[in-house]
Amino acid sequence: MLRQVVALISRPATIEDVGIVRCSSATTTPKVQPECISSPSPGPVVYPTTLRTTATVSLKLASAILAIGLTSISAPLLAAKSGSDLTAQEQADLTFVREEEKLARDSYLVFFDKWGTAVFSNIAGSEQSHMDAILGLLRRYDLPDPAAGNQIGQFTDPSLRILYANLSTLGMESEMAALRVGGIIEETDIRDLQTSIANTTHPDIAKVYENLYCGSRNHLRAFARSVGDLTGRTYTAVVLTQTEVDTIIGSPTEQCGK
Ligand code: MN
Ligand code: MN
Repeated sequence: MLRQVVALISRPATIEDVGIVRCSSATTTPKVQPECISSPSPGPVVYPTTLRTTATVSLKLASAILAIGLTSISAPLLAAKSGSDLTAQEQADLTFVREEEKLARDSYLVFFDKWGTAVFSNIAGSEQSHMDAILGLLRRYDLPDPAAGNQIGQFTDPSLRILYANLSTLGMESEMAALRVGGIIEETDIRDLQTSIANTTHPDIAKVYENLYCGSRNHLRAFARSVGDLTGRTYTAVVLTQTEVDTIIGSPTEQCGK
């Protein structure tokens, strides 16, 4: 049985797809119409409605190659458990989420560097803790770390590599675009974490996913609030339904992991 892993919607997307309009005339300035951008399009952008809609074997292959490559640096583990305690799907999910959290962290670091918006540095710190939590599970179950040795913007999973390239390019167009990309990343994480929670029978793994899910709800609230502060407009859903998004952003910030 194929692992259900990464997939990208192949339809080329543009900045308009994330709810940002291009300036209608030369006299329009970002100050007057903050959601419009006047820079030329960087070209087609691919983004997910959810990262996992198609089964492929690419991650399986990548993981196999990585496992061989990491044998020599595999740390000694307390590990009373091993990857064989997990289904192939559970293993694939942990591997995937580790890099999906990295995609969020790396994007926000790059956006903070470009725009200096505090929300990006704050949330990047949270994504680092999410990455660490998943790394703890990978070690507990004696699974290889797909992010080992990878720098900012580097990904073992080829589809995440493409997604990062596209989203980070989009976020360079304007601060507004970067905030919208943040929202897209969080909506995507929420959908994928819901799937990963449903896929696991292990309470320790589910607990970590629930904590990340809670974090993503808070992050989505923060990005939606920032979009509102900048534009006076409400946040438009891209990956989740508008009802799902409105339910989240209409409820208070949560204390995660308590
Ligand atoms: Mn996260
Ligand atoms: Mn997040």
